[in-house]
Amino acid sequence: MVKETGYYDILEVKPTATDAELKKAYRKLALKYHPDKNPDAGDKFKQISMAYEVLSDPKKREIYDKGGEEAIKGGASGAGFDFHSPMDIFDLFFGGGGRRGPQRGPRKGKDVIHQMKVSLEDLYQGATRKLALQKNVICSKCEGIGGKEGSVQKCTNCRGTGMQVRIQQLGPGMVQQIQSVCAECRGEGEVIDPKHRCKNCNGKKITKERKILEVHIDKGMRDNQQIRFSGEGDQEPNLEPGDIVIVLDEQEHERFRRRGNDLIMTMQLELVEALCGFQKTVQTLDGRTLVITNLPGEVVKHQDVKCVMGEGMPIYRDPFVKGRLIIQFTVNFPPSGSLDPAAISALEAVLPPRQEVIVPDGAEECTLEDFDPSQEQRHRSQGMEAYDSDDEHSGGQRVQCASH
Ligand SMILES: [Zn+2]
Ligand SMILES: [Zn+2]
Repeated sequence: MVKETGYYDILEVKPTATDAELKKAYRKLALKYHPDKNPDAGDKFKQISMAYEVLSDPKKREIYDKGGEEAIKGGASGAGFDFHSPMDIFDLFFGGGGRRGPQRGPRKGKDVIHQMKVSLEDLYQGATRKLALQKNVICSKCEGIGGKEGSVQKCTNCRGTGMQVRIQQLGPGMVQQIQSVCAECRGEGEVIDPKHRCKNCNGKKITKERKILEVHIDKGMRDNQQIRFSGEGDQEPNLEPGDIVIVLDEQEHERFRRRGNDLIMTMQLELVEALCGFQKTVQTLDGRTLVITNLPGEVVKHQDVKCVMGEGMPIYRDPFVKGRLIIQFTVNFPPSGSLDPAAISALEAVLPPRQEVIVPDGAEECTLEDFDPSQEQRHRSQGMEAYDSDDEHSGGQRVQCASH
């Protein structure tokens, strides 16, 4: 039971979400609403980051679940947590950054992160994908100067700082300093005489270039795995370019579910197959056909789980070794009323006998009905409305919470 679901709603997950589900949700939304990709999304990126920061930390999540947003932000209880900036959380998550704090060596530009959808087949067999993207490169005509040699002048308005300071008198003896980006040079700190400005880049020093990256997806790679292209990020004068980072996004498969190196599938059996043996085929992710045989007399029960060794996912960097193919069986029983009396007697004759039941005197005869969970709930809520009290209900909840 959680007090409020706001943070869960922001990440579009249920309050019961696992760590992995939270990660996946954050990854999807953070990439979608990152200010680089979606500058008009407003506070959305900030909200996603806040929600993820709280819910991904077991301690903070517990406090949030008990006391809601007020508790986590300090409020009356004064939890007193430090929160990171949305960009820090993003960098931490995607392993980017390395450009904050004390710098060693040349300054590095931002990493550019792209999400790439991959099928389970791609991850099983390996694949090569071409990714076309636009990136900033140093202008080849002026080599990043922005104009002819010597045409770049220090901005006189801001003396090259890129910022201008305005002093505003608020009242007697009270002044306020307002710092803003220099209007003359737009924060560049320098201006280029329009006559000598580079025609190719219009003095911007950089141009856009279409780039095709070849992304190699290795066998056994996982959801969320990153493929890094060092130094392929946007170029900027006096800055070492950052990396392009491809984040794999494993798509759901119609037949297989992946758990680590194992593949999980369900297989439907008719009752006759479950009791008398069967032969079935399974199409693998690389198009082979496996034959699964169960001999007569080997009984498979409803919800039995069996596995085939070496038919799961290949192991990353060791692709000749594979995980397990786990098969969860469901047994289809014949529909009610489909067996005629002769068939029933024939079955009775061959199946293990019934256990004898002794019915004592005074036992009460009752009727078995089909169970409908939604109907049961409706009864309960009607009852609550009628009595206009939920004493019994909340009492039950309290017991539930205490047992956690
Ligand atoms: Zn140029
Ligand atoms: Zn200026």
